[in-house]
Amino acid sequence: MDTSTLQRNIRGRVLNRSDADFQLIQSGLLWNQLQPRRYPEVIVQVDHEQDVVQAVKFAAANGLRVVARGGGHSWCGLAVRQGGMLIDLQRLNGVTIDPSARRATIQPFISNREIIANLEPHGLAFPTGHCPEVKASGYLLSGGIGWNAGAWGAACHNVEAIDVVTAQGELVRADASSNAELFWTARGGGAGFPGIAVRYHLALHPMPKAMYASTYYFSLEHIKEVGDWVFEVADQLPKWIEFTIFMLTAPPALASRCAAMSGKVCMITATAFADDAEDAREGLALLENGPVSDQCLTRSSNQPTNFTEQFNLSGNMWPPNLRARVETLWSSSSTGDILLATRDHFLKSPSPATVMLFALYPGWASGVPGKLQSAFSMCAKVYGGPWTMWRRENDDEINNQWHAHNISILRPFTVGHYLGETDIVEEPIRARGAYSRANWERLQELRHKLDPHGLFQGFDGGLGTDNQTVKE
Ligand SMILES: Cc1cc2nc3c(=O)[nH]c(=O)nc-3n(C[C@H](O)[C@H](O)[C@H](O)COP(=O)(O)OP(=O)(O)OC[C@H]3O[C@@H](n4cnc5c(N)ncnc54)[C@H](O)[C@@H]3O)c2cc1C
Repeated sequence: MDTSTLQRNIRGRVLNRSDADFQLIQSGLLWNQLQPRRYPEVIVQVDHEQDVVQAVKFAAANGLRVVARGGGHSWCGLAVRQGGMLIDLQRLNGVTIDPSARRATIQPFISNREIIANLEPHGLAFPTGHCPEVKASGYLLSGGIGWNAGAWGAACHNVEAIDVVTAQGELVRADASSNAELFWTARGGGAGFPGIAVRYHLALHPMPKAMYASTYYFSLEHIKEVGDWVFEVADQLPKWIEFTIFMLTAPPALASRCAAMSGKVCMITATAFADDAEDAREGLALLENGPVSDQCLTRSSNQPTNFTEQFNLSGNMWPPNLRARVETLWSSSSTGDILLATRDHFLKSPSPATVMLFALYPGWASGVPGKLQSAFSMCAKVYGGPWTMWRRENDDEINNQWHAHNISILRPFTVGHYLGETDIVEEPIRARGAYSRANWERLQELRHKLDPHGLFQGFDGGLGTDNQTVKE
């Protein structure tokens, strides 16, 4: 395709498949090393928002379908599609903060760690995602289940406005009063968002002054009673305590005590985002003397922490350069039942890097707060699933099989999915499961209205089912 006109009109760079470094650029677009065999026709590395405008107009005029690449962190590689134009936003990485108004404006390619690092000096915070390197772009559009979500809500409900290049190639502001339908789709529409977001205007929170964390380890022999206790005690915790139960490989200090359980262990973490150390202590104390307390292998209670430490812990659990298959679900079932059902299969997990976790959001049990104002509309008390992660290409098949069986065990517990972390390449219908019925129907109507010619690839354009093959 002759893209010279587009190249003349933008500051960034246009790459065609015939360009010498196309393969190199293409192979670096995704976080997950389990790379799909999908190749865009054209990659546009934009340098400026106006480049996005020009690229969208060029694509529309030349019959190319379009996908935006934010950070490329989608586990199932949604930023890379077969054919069409990929608009790579990685050079759009500005941040401005208005501390007195408690507002920040960010461009798409800003990581969770960068957001907090910019806000911390002003005593401000935002519900970023948990891992340090993941970018805000697709996270905010998918809904965003981040730090302190029980108190701060989904990240998308903390987005006040968004600057968007529309299917018509116009750069517009969308908020609750102008372009309100577009704004509604931006809050949870994720891969189905009918536009390209180039700026997000965020409402900020005061930085919690007293962050404290407790961690408990239990043998997986007791997973049913521990999981049931977690499910029940979650209702008593302040909503600013983030509470999660894991099954994972035991740390070296506990490995010998976990030998009967294939070296795996149950870990429970509770992180308080409080303003007062006494409040944090009191809240976390609810976990100290539960019915399973005497079975605890080891604990660390009420230790001061901060975002940097929490990012580092998450970064260690989800390191870069792994091959991964991820499937998450919302569930109303007890974590005791869910984890007991999958425990024996987990003991056979082929990779020590694999984790299963479920976070508890009792405040969301009866629905997402603000559901009417956003496409984002699916939730339940329990959120999580398996993060199946491994290093070597030779281990693809065994891990794929293990993961698939795990999903089949979890299916009866599933009431819905979260678009940001469900695999809609493997099973496209899961996209629908990420919304209430009414919101899914409205999202389809609005996508059609706002993008009548289907310029944007959306939930399923250019996606094969071949999501588990290696780089070529
Ligand atoms: C290590 C790791 C940890 C994670 N932790 C969390 C977590 O704690 N909470 C959570 O909610 N999620 C989490 N996620 C999931 C992550 O938030 C989503 O995958 C999200 O889509 C990543 O954003 P991205 O910009 O990298 O998306 P990409 O992979 O670039 O894109 C995903 C989809 O969104 C579209 N898109 C992205 N940006 C734009 C844009 N600006 N305009 C229009 N469309 C766009 C793309 O076209 C594509 O269809 C995690 C992912 C990883 C890899």
